[in-house]
Amino acid sequence: APMQPLDLVQLVCDRLALAGQLAAARHIEIELQAPDLCAMCLHRESMAALIDNVVGNAVKYSPEGGRVAVAIDANGGLITLTVRDEGPGIAPALQQKVFERFYRLPDQDQPGSGLGLAIAERAAIRNRGSIMLANRDDGPGLCVHVTFDVTMASG
Ligand code: ATP
Ligand code: MG
Repeated sequence: APMQPLDLVQLVCDRLALAGQLAAARHIEIELQAPDLCAMCLHRESMAALIDNVVGNAVKYSPEGGRVAVAIDANGGLITLTVRDEGPGIAPALQQKVFERFYRLPDQDQPGSGLGLAIAERAAIRNRGSIMLANRDDGPGLCVHVTFDVTMASG
């Protein structure tokens, strides 16, 4: 399927509706801060996979009752999708390593195969974007930044 003009906000809303069911079971609140519309050229299936994996991680690694904040910002030629959670975060030295297929941090209780972030990174690249991790600076938790350069995204 080709890249096509889509509304990123609409796509994120659709995927959050699904993630919300999982979150609700653990009393995790997902909040979205976004413009009314954010039209850009996207490959729908891979972007859905990116959102599902990143938001799925935020929910999975959040403590019961945690808050997941999803934000979309359009700034000049850059569009950013940010997902913040209140989980344990990831040691800076391992923030690249977790993108490797099958790699999972040691000593964690949550199930998984270690593929989600590798899939998310491929999806970001396919959509002319990049993905970066950082720990929050306002308390515990991980911050996932997905950045799209839309200045050259007309083709
Ligand atoms: P799955 O294939 O089901 O996604 P997974 O969640 O273990 O399995 P990834 O999504 O690739 O795999 O994540 C790799 C590892 O990075 C995780 O096992 C976890 O240790 C760590 N990680 C990912 N997201 C977070 C997060 N939001 N907070 C803390 N640790 C995380
Ligand atoms: Mg995952």
